Amino acid sequence: MADYQVLVIGSGPGGYVAAIRAAQLGFKTAIVEKDKTLGGTCLNVGCIPSKALLASSEHFHFAQERFSAHGIVAKDLSLDLAALLKRKDGIVTKLTGGVEFLMKKNKIERLSGFARFADAKTVEVEGADGAKKSVTADHFILATGSVPVELPFLKFDGKNVVSSTEAIAFDKVPKSLLVVGGGAIGLELGSVWKRLGAEVTVVEFLPRIALGFDGQIAETLRKSLAKQGLKILTDTKVEAGEVGKDGVTLTVSSGGKQEKLSAEKVLVAVGRRPFYDGLGLDKAGVALTERKRVQINAHYQTSVPHIYAIGDIVDGPMLAHKASDEGIAAAERIAGLPGQVNYGAIPGVIYTSPEAASVGHTEEQLKEKGVAYKTGQAIFGPNGRALANDQTEGFVKILADAKTDRVLGVHILCSAASELIAAAVSVIEFGGAAEDIARTCHAHPTLSEVVREAAHAVSGHAIHA
Ligand code: FAD
Repeated sequence: MADYQVLVIGSGPGGYVAAIRAAQLGFKTAIVEKDKTLGGTCLNVGCIPSKALLASSEHFHFAQERFSAHGIVAKDLSLDLAALLKRKDGIVTKLTGGVEFLMKKNKIERLSGFARFADAKTVEVEGADGAKKSVTADHFILATGSVPVELPFLKFDGKNVVSSTEAIAFDKVPKSLLVVGGGAIGLELGSVWKRLGAEVTVVEFLPRIALGFDGQIAETLRKSLAKQGLKILTDTKVEAGEVGKDGVTLTVSSGGKQEKLSAEKVLVAVGRRPFYDGLGLDKAGVALTERKRVQINAHYQTSVPHIYAIGDIVDGPMLAHKASDEGIAAAERIAGLPGQVNYGAIPGVIYTSPEAASVGHTEEQLKEKGVAYKTGQAIFGPNGRALANDQTEGFVKILADAKTDRVLGVHILCSAASELIAAAVSVIEFGGAAEDIARTCHAHPTLSEVVREAAHAVSGHAIHA
């Protein structure tokens, strides 16, 4: 008999959720984690600390820029970065401790150390002290996540050339920061340090920022961030980099012209790669896809049927909620249940100010697929709640099938887009129509009324236009 029925490797939002679901389904379950704390990238160095920094820096910026309009007089406003970072660390500790509590509550055994397959049924776990322990399991769920991608000519040094892991913990505000990559992580952390006082330049290779988001949303976000003082260079390629005494100099080229950009620090946010280094996938016989992700079928089984894989190491967007949903589905598949994930209804969010949130198809994708669609748009400017909140930027765009009115995509730019998108995800999940949103009562005064107004606009009946 094997030691465990289910052994999960990696305790990020994919792994720890999979372990809980497996335990709920009655399996004797264990989880292996190489780091000191549970929670993976998301809780330790990703989603959560970055959002804590975004919130604090947004308050600071609002106090500086908008307090006087609200009749609030705050003299000698200044930043205590150490306290700001301490608050962020406190949230991380609380949440990683919470995962530990959940493991105990669900009677999931925690194995501390680095997991490595010896064969397809056996994993060797090597602790920080070098002690090794062999464990066997009937089923494995691989959830070992991802790590930041380096520029080949400018390696991370943890000080001047950094990844997001260091950029959530600078102990002083850099005078200047170059951000390579105009995706979610680069724009979010660029916003944080800009609001705290750094001069920030974002360099993006593509002609646009926020790849994957609707083009109109991305362009409006770019203009908004530029207004906030972020310098954004699109169509610009970083060709070389050099670390000097006073910082880093990048050689960039755009439209055939080369130029040098210097800054105290460079944040490289050009993407993340799946992490299965040292896991011994070859020993287990687990195959990879052409793009070097772990290959799975619709049941989350790898090429070895009793080994499952989820989260950032498999295809799809590298998002925490996608990893968690796959974790639940994989555990349910092991139990013989029809666990699945609807990949057409996974929201994506950039937590800048304003936030960009999106679900379903973008307008560009519908055009490319030749789908006939209708569009409805509404802006937040005249909305009572947006005015009361002093957050009037942005708009909602709903894309619906031209014939059936079925909602195909919803794209929101506003201060609370990450929250508003949830209702749109539900509508898409249930196969709802724009008219369903238009006929649903929304509380007044709320930002959600703008979503309804956009739904009215799909059929040309906007009330406040
Ligand atoms: P991970 O969270 O990466 O966890 C993998 C775990 O496996 C790690 O703890 C690792 O130590 C462990 N591990 C690896 N190999 C072994 C081994 N051999 N033995 C034992 N343990 C091992 N996503 C969102 O959805 N929303 C956001 O707002 C968001 N913000 C982000 C901000 C930043 C700065 C970053 C970096 C990422 C952000 N992400 C966000 C992405 C999100 O963090 C990842 O998509 C998510 O964490 C992936 O979950 P996972 O379970 O697949 O892997």
